[in-house]
Amino acid sequence: MASLGRLRAALPGPCSLPAPLRRLASGWGSAAALLRSGAFMDGRWVEVAAAFPVCDPGSGTELARVADCGAAEARAAVRAAHRAWPSWSAAPAKERSALLRKWYHLMIENKDDLAKIITAENGKPLKEAHGEILYSASFLEWFAEEARRVYGDIIPPAAKDRRILVLKQPVGVAAIITPWNFPSAMITRKVGAALAAGCTVVVKPAEDTPLSALALAELANQAGIPAGVFNVVPCSRQQTPAVGEALCTDPLVAKISFTGSTATGKLLLHYAADTVKRVSMELGGHAPFIVFDSANVDQAVAGALASKYRNSGQTCVCTNRFLVQKGIHDTFVEKFAKAIEKELHVGNGFDERTTQGPLINEKAVEKVERHISDAVAQGASIVTGGKRHSLGKNFFEPTLLSNVTTNMLCTQEETFGPVAPVIKFDTEAEAVAIANSANVGLAGYFYSQDPGQIWRVAEQLEVGMVGVNEGLLSAVECPFGGVKQSGLGREGSKYGIDEYLEVKYVCFGGL
Ligand code: NAD
Repeated sequence: MASLGRLRAALPGPCSLPAPLRRLASGWGSAAALLRSGAFMDGRWVEVAAAFPVCDPGSGTELARVADCGAAEARAAVRAAHRAWPSWSAAPAKERSALLRKWYHLMIENKDDLAKIITAENGKPLKEAHGEILYSASFLEWFAEEARRVYGDIIPPAAKDRRILVLKQPVGVAAIITPWNFPSAMITRKVGAALAAGCTVVVKPAEDTPLSALALAELANQAGIPAGVFNVVPCSRQQTPAVGEALCTDPLVAKISFTGSTATGKLLLHYAADTVKRVSMELGGHAPFIVFDSANVDQAVAGALASKYRNSGQTCVCTNRFLVQKGIHDTFVEKFAKAIEKELHVGNGFDERTTQGPLINEKAVEKVERHISDAVAQGASIVTGGKRHSLGKNFFEPTLLSNVTTNMLCTQEETFGPVAPVIKFDTEAEAVAIANSANVGLAGYFYSQDPGQIWRVAEQLEVGMVGVNEGLLSAVECPFGGVKQSGLGREGSKYGIDEYLEVKYVCFGGL
């Protein structure tokens, strides 16, 4: 089950690489041209003394060894970003826009290789990885457009001899910390907005998936993004706390943008407090998916499948709890189970038939097992799945649980895996109360054909994003973000660039 073996078969051809990856790269074909092992700082590739392994989550095979940066490298990258900031922020928006667009085109030209790198290090099916690359590139394209539409205001003054102007200016250097579940898109969603606004950035990618971040740096360099504007400091789990603290407490950093768990987000908020940095936090979710009696059950099943099992359940907007009204409950569970068994295929991400790759690591599998055993111990039934897949220790069968109640772990915490727990409910008010009982609120979904109910429930759900008869929400044009402990701020859309802009009021007097 070696992804690398599959890459070897899939990617014949020459490659050219820096020394540490040369031997390994012989199997990567054209994707090898995008493989990098160093940190990217000040427009240069920098090797550091230590390195950490990046592994195929399916087989555990080592794919590459990557520079293990520490606090010193993080601070050096911040200084490089700070040096680059004055000229980048002063460049006409049209120039920044053109460079972002060039970077976008390079991503599209290299989309197949970028997707293979995602599948190799993250495990997600190649088709999903392709989808991620298009989604990821779309943020560079979108923010290349938005860069030229940062308008200020002229405000009518109260005094005759005054004129009032509002300018929007970049906040400065942004530290960007991203997760492994979208190794490319979580970077461009932030960096596209930051660079468009005139900020410079230091990215710390997740330790499981640094190769996608480094491939983006290679393409940024090819696109001509100036030295110091986009920096990447990969590091191991061991170095992460020191690098995170260095980035998030450095006085030269004006902004922190983070996507990841709520626990880490809270820690970074503490760091930010000391120097009062701007923050954007995209944190954990616990998405409810409500199916009302009035729903079109087949539509609901299709939405449930997409919303729950994409990326093997490892997205922050994946459904975590299904709430199904008693009149439609049995039909929904029966059809959902059939769809899972017929349409989902566990396997290596490079196999065409695969819809469910491995989970990212064993810790993730153990959490899934803990949630299932807790639910079963408290009376839940396993309708389908329920155990590790024979393919290997990180592969898990897509699972459906019924007879689930609100006191079970799987309905209280984010599972982040392929488990669909179904709770039966009686009234609309009961469903909304269960949905809103969580202390997080990122995405929420519901299926109903009743227009009155659609308006009521869309307004009442305490989440940042609502899918009405729709299980997939994310798109570059739409504001992505949550309420409660799911975070602060919005990414993508016309709002995303504001996260990197200050509003400055200028008063002209004595006129
Ligand atoms: P995580 O918080 O452990 O890791 C996310 C990033 O934070 C990684 O780069 C990691 O190295 C870094 N990190 C961890 N500890 C740190 C520290 N002390 N200082 C600085 N950086 C640190 O989360 P994860 O396990 O990688 O991702 C899963 C979680 O992320 C889930 O809870 C999921 O809901 C959430 N998530 C949210 C969104 C969103 O947009 N809201 C998107 C994807 C994932």
